[in-house]
Amino acid sequence: MTDKKAIIVGGGLVGSLWAIFLARRGYQVDVYERRDDMRLAGYSGGRSINLAMSYRGKYALAAAGILDEAHYAAIPMYGRMMHSPAGELTFQPYGRAGEAIYSVSRGGLNMDLLRAADQFEQVRFHFRHKCLDVDAGHGCVRFERQPDGQLVEVEAPLIFGTDGAFSAVRHSLQNRPRFNFSQDYLDYGYKELTIPPDTEGRHRMELNALHIWPRGRFMLIALPNTDGSFTCTLFLPFEGEDSFETLQSDAEVSAFFERYFADAVPLMPTLLEDFRKNPVSALATVRCSPWHFGGKVLLLGDAAHAIVPFFGQGMNAGFEDCTLLNNLLDACQENWSEVLPRFSQMRKPDADAIADLALQNFVEMRDLVADPDFLLRKRIAAALAERFPHEFVPMYSMVSFSNVPYREALLAGQAQDALLAQLAALPGIEAQMAAHPDFERVFRQWQAQY
Ligand SMILES: Cc1cc2nc3c(=O)[nH]c(=O)nc-3n(C[C@H](O)[C@H](O)[C@H](O)COP(=O)(O)OP(=O)(O)OC[C@H]3O[C@@H](n4cnc5c(N)ncnc54)[C@H](O)[C@@H]3O)c2cc1C
Repeated sequence: MTDKKAIIVGGGLVGSLWAIFLARRGYQVDVYERRDDMRLAGYSGGRSINLAMSYRGKYALAAAGILDEAHYAAIPMYGRMMHSPAGELTFQPYGRAGEAIYSVSRGGLNMDLLRAADQFEQVRFHFRHKCLDVDAGHGCVRFERQPDGQLVEVEAPLIFGTDGAFSAVRHSLQNRPRFNFSQDYLDYGYKELTIPPDTEGRHRMELNALHIWPRGRFMLIALPNTDGSFTCTLFLPFEGEDSFETLQSDAEVSAFFERYFADAVPLMPTLLEDFRKNPVSALATVRCSPWHFGGKVLLLGDAAHAIVPFFGQGMNAGFEDCTLLNNLLDACQENWSEVLPRFSQMRKPDADAIADLALQNFVEMRDLVADPDFLLRKRIAAALAERFPHEFVPMYSMVSFSNVPYREALLAGQAQDALLAQLAALPGIEAQMAAHPDFERVFRQWQAQY
């Protein structure tokens, strides 16, 4: 292809990162974004204020050459801090010493990515342009420009849909024959709340942890921000007992928090105000295929595979899309007609796997992390990883601290469950762990099987 031009629809996290990769390859890139330029207008995303970045996300930022710019304001979280109903705290490390996932500001990171992309003179941003549809056959995209409502039509040999879970680009592909699509909502919604800094501007809880109040059917979590605050997210059923439906008045909200999250209440002076003001949002898994049309149009990030947030991997997976696509372009000498179908085919099983893992992790976070049997298996997994560091990598670590394909991590996790169940059943394992006389034997037998 001689005409190195591309249109990116959506200047969010994945779109602005992909613009950088393309610019480095010498493409003229036009990014069209529905919202205002958040560097001028401020961030008004309306979705989670911070998010957890792990290895795959950092790896992609490094591959794009911007790790330092985009990652400096991150707070390492070395494990989960569980808050029991009585207010007791238990810390559960995520991995080996020093391994962490990172709490980053969503708006801050998006702005860093926009700034980094803007450093390339061949990247142009067009804000307040809402994509209406795409004519995939002709490589033509229609936008409505604000504030004048003008219709704008543009063409390019390559079009990338990075316009998120409710992608207009994907919607256009859906109108074509043999396009598969499913969207599954959880019966749960989420609402964001705040734990502000103390009077000295310091964090009111342990800074380097992701806090969880697991309560069986629902949970509250909190991630630290660099300004001393925590962003809390309440995940709760929409309807039924203990649901958003039953929390209408201030009195109902107060009673619910006092009953289930009593240790958090004194840390949340604006609880009632936040609860009234902040919306309840829905959570869905979106699966579709193929992600491409011919050698011209490709969906990336949430537009291709939106997942529920319980493994903290949505953005990480979208960033990894960029790294893998970039690698494939090298491997195929930038032959787009070959690259797009190959990418779509190669990556889809991994997107499906992380979607499944994210759904599974919801049960783990809201319920199992408070279950003694589950905690025992976690301790056994940690003991295995310490005793056989080159032979046993826990599934959580594969997902969060490596770029092993998600599908492999899912299968390894299923195999590991069988081993952990066997070891957990050994009498005396709790006290002896790796020193247990049968520990190595059971491990070797399992290893020979898988
Ligand atoms: C509560 C919650 C917590 C999360 N926590 C984590 C986490 O801890 N770790 C993690 O890795 N992921 C997390 N995620 C997932 C993460 O937010 C997404 O995977 C990520 O934002 C996807 O990036 P994206 O660029 O594909 O889409 P988006 O971030 O949604 O960006 C899409 C962009 O396209 C623009 N756009 C939309 N429609 C149009 C249109 N018609 N025309 C033009 N522009 C348009 C939007 O304005 C936006 O800028 C979380 C998600 C939620 C909801």
